[in-house]
Amino acid sequence: MECWQAGAAIVHIHVRDPKTGQGSQDVDLFRQVVEPLREKTDLLLCLTTSGIPGRNLPIEDRLAPLALKPELASLDAGSINLGGDVFLNPPSFVDQAAHRMKQQGVKPELEVFDMGMIMTCIRMRDQGKLEDPLHIQFVLGTPWGAPATPKSLLHLYEHIPLNATWSVIGIGKGHLPTSMMALIMGGHIRVGLEDNIYYEAGVLAKSNAQMVDRIVRIAREYGREVASPDETRTILGLRTG
Ligand code: ZN
Repeated sequence: MECWQAGAAIVHIHVRDPKTGQGSQDVDLFRQVVEPLREKTDLLLCLTTSGIPGRNLPIEDRLAPLALKPELASLDAGSINLGGDVFLNPPSFVDQAAHRMKQQGVKPELEVFDMGMIMTCIRMRDQGKLEDPLHIQFVLGTPWGAPATPKSLLHLYEHIPLNATWSVIGIGKGHLPTSMMALIMGGHIRVGLEDNIYYEAGVLAKSNAQMVDRIVRIAREYGREVASPDETRTILGLRTG
């Protein structure tokens, strides 16, 4: 709610099990978040299918939130080391997730951590598994993937299809620099506590909304107005006719 009020158009949603405090893919827990947001806001909802990266839940569990038919859902386009583990997104998962999203009319937020994942997305599009226009979410600055630098973003950006839309997440201290790059390059921006818990060096962020508020302020000062949820639907090609 607060993020919407601050100007966010899309919310990317994970939930936790209140009993254990651990991340969960339980559809009922997602429903408790999704229903009030649908009632009170016009936000685009993007539900995670990552589960908890590195915990590697069964495919069916990861895809369970798609039953709520969100407009968007995350789809991690390949495996990568994460912490002391491997975040597994083998072809069996990626193919099935893409297939199920297509069936349910859910557009994938294609989370891309490195160049190989872009190649995967393009190949899947060519095979008809993903539909044009793709929406790519660059995830930069994990210690195991592409770094959060201008050179890195430019290199990845040059390899996505011309008609793709794109957004960027900078992990940790890469957060603001990548946001600024997206701002001047004409991309979109994802902010929030999943990717970075600090508002500035050594200062914890108070909320997701605080981060939305800052990026909206900077974008306006720069001269790029922030898209409303409805404008976002048009930008992402979610409107037909
Ligand atoms: Zn996420």
